[in-house]
Amino acid sequence: MIQAPKSNELFLRAQNSIPGGVNSPVRAFRAVGGNPRFMVSAKGPYMYDEDGNRYMDLINSWGPMILGHAADVVNEAVKKAIPNSLSFGAPTRKEIEIAELIVSMVPSIEKVRMVNSGTEATMSAIRVARGYTGRDKIIKFEGCYHGHGDSFLIAAGSGAITLGVPDSPGVTKGTANDTLTAPYNNLKAVQTLVEANKGQVAAIILEPVAGNMGLVTPADGFLQGLRDLCDKEGIVLIFDEVMTGFRLSPGGAQQLYGVTPDLSTLGKIIGGGMPVGAYGGKKEIMDYVAPAGPVYQAGTLSGNPIAMSAGMAMLTYLNDHPEVYTQLEQTTLKMVEGMQANMQKLGLNFTINRIGSMFSIFFTDQPVYDFESAKNSDTAFFGRYFNAMLQRGIYLAPSQYEALFVSTAISEELVAQYIQANYESLQQAL
Ligand code: PLP
Repeated sequence: MIQAPKSNELFLRAQNSIPGGVNSPVRAFRAVGGNPRFMVSAKGPYMYDEDGNRYMDLINSWGPMILGHAADVVNEAVKKAIPNSLSFGAPTRKEIEIAELIVSMVPSIEKVRMVNSGTEATMSAIRVARGYTGRDKIIKFEGCYHGHGDSFLIAAGSGAITLGVPDSPGVTKGTANDTLTAPYNNLKAVQTLVEANKGQVAAIILEPVAGNMGLVTPADGFLQGLRDLCDKEGIVLIFDEVMTGFRLSPGGAQQLYGVTPDLSTLGKIIGGGMPVGAYGGKKEIMDYVAPAGPVYQAGTLSGNPIAMSAGMAMLTYLNDHPEVYTQLEQTTLKMVEGMQANMQKLGLNFTINRIGSMFSIFFTDQPVYDFESAKNSDTAFFGRYFNAMLQRGIYLAPSQYEALFVSTAISEELVAQYIQANYESLQQAL
């Protein structure tokens, strides 16, 4: 039985000085019960908490640590950069190098601007889409999460739905009115919305593979259908690849599915664990961004040299080692097959969605293809399952409405341990 007295004490203390005791809501374990674990260090597949407990990590900082924690290739690059100053606020060679690498890896990107988070990337992408088209409205999908920009906190997934606030107070009616929503995987609904708002829609933004209502993959023809609709109506198609970029393939979901958006947003893996985001796409659109064009967007620490060094090391590694993606796929497949075999033994029929190294278990026997069907999952069961796994030293995302991310540090032996823990935890949660 894992005990965590120091984490419990720290969580009490944290609540006096930090809202809810955490700097990002889902970390607080609200949806699963119990207290969050306060981490001290991590290496490879493991994280270690204040009480010295070890956890096999299947969330990996919510995606970035695709090579496991403290990967030498990234850490060495950071160490090398530190003595040269932590920040210049002036251009550096590294910013060109990473931009060139991103352009070479991501099919849609001809020009790219570095920012500090996924949220900044999506906020900026819709601003430039609005500036470029001269239109105000955007379409997003129910259950997709694009960070905490006002325009996106409408029918939002991830922590917003986990805490029961998909439409956040504090977003003005005017902003909310400019965000139209449609069910994921429902092309007809999007066509109807566009028709009803003809000439007013600047952008359609989506996660090309949704990870923030749990994992939901795009139905056959959905992405291409959106591409065709955007071409016909002069709408900017934005793929939010903050999660999927550099994760599903070196060129992200767009490379995997062969559908090219006009703009893409990136985050997570792009910083190798440092706070980095980026948005980019067609030259013609990106040249609207200041100082090339009139759409304003800036950042004191954007293109920070330490963050760029970490990101460059990570992306270079992934670009040079495409076999990483085969390895990740095989590892994840084995985990999912093991879970399916466990369920068969236990007479259970839960839904597992998987693509590449991302997956989610939904505690329903119905297929999950959009936000409404994701909500069929028994979240109380999820809470019991999550805590049973935690007790066995397996760290999952503390919410049903998240995807899990596998890293290259998960060995065959750890896969076997994971499958055994899954069996016992399912049995315990019943
Ligand atoms: N877009 C997607 C698809 C995300 O999953 C997230 C974060 O989880 C974001 C945007 C926001 O990124 P950040 O948390 O870096 O602001």
